[in-house]
Amino acid sequence: MTTSTDRRSATDTCPITLTATGGIDRAANQRMDEAWLAAAWSHPTTRVFVVSDGQALIEDDGAGRTELVMMPSFDAPFTEAHRYFLGIDEDGVRYFALQKDVLPGRMDDIARPAGLREAGVLLSPRDAELMAHAVGLENWQRTHRFCSRCGERTVIAAAGHLRRCPACGAEHYPRTDPAVIMLVTDDKDRALLGRQIHWPEGRFSTLAGFVEPGESLEAAVVREVGEEAGVAVGEVEYVASQPWPFPASLMLGFMARATSPEIRVDGDEIEEARWFSREDIREAIRTGEVLPPAGISIAARLVELWYGGPLPRPERKH
Ligand SMILES: [Zn+2]
Repeated sequence: MTTSTDRRSATDTCPITLTATGGIDRAANQRMDEAWLAAAWSHPTTRVFVVSDGQALIEDDGAGRTELVMMPSFDAPFTEAHRYFLGIDEDGVRYFALQKDVLPGRMDDIARPAGLREAGVLLSPRDAELMAHAVGLENWQRTHRFCSRCGERTVIAAAGHLRRCPACGAEHYPRTDPAVIMLVTDDKDRALLGRQIHWPEGRFSTLAGFVEPGESLEAAVVREVGEEAGVAVGEVEYVASQPWPFPASLMLGFMARATSPEIRVDGDEIEEARWFSREDIREAIRTGEVLPPAGISIAARLVELWYGGPLPRPERKH
């Protein structure tokens, strides 16, 4: 049985994408200070990137690393753009994102557009954090143009972190919707994985769901596992969180212990759920019967924490 200390050291050596801190001070106290923002924008060391429809330009730096395409503010395409202030790094460099309808064209062919799901695993923690921040703000801005209190069109303030209603004075702040994601184990230390109806064939992953109003995270874990798989859960232990701005979630990862192995799927969201021993999952992945969670999602890391290391890869089919 792994302990929470083991889990912490495992996430230290192999950080969860978008979870590791990128060393950016968001300097939230400066967002309302227009004079400070103007000086920060025009400072020669300031760096700017463009975000559009969840994408930004990324490029290979020539040394095998991938970074966001950034430019000084005097080169930035500021017309018809919304400007988001994202923070300051340890060297005092200020970062801004410009939200535009289209990404800027480039004279060279090195840069390419990428969404956060792809860029998140390629970029440094600093660039991934900057991009997640900008994409989250863009998603929120896009769907909150009108006041939810009176219906009037709202205007952007606080360097992209506030929308203010000129009619009723309401202030609207960016939303983050908490969602729980959990790996459930039983008394034989088998893992419960389920598959959603619309997933590709063989895909199995952890269960997950949104936290409801007035509900604790622990209660949400118990409720979601009960609803989706019919499995009763006792002990619930927090592992880590992951920003998930698709469009506005924060994934809160848990390990949970079933009090009974009996499964009864809802057949609505989850069409199948199974208990896997480590040998079961190894064999099922090898034969191609099961596709484990992959990519940047914390789901893959929760399964790996239980498994005790990276999951095996499927055998190549010829
Ligand atoms: Zn209003």
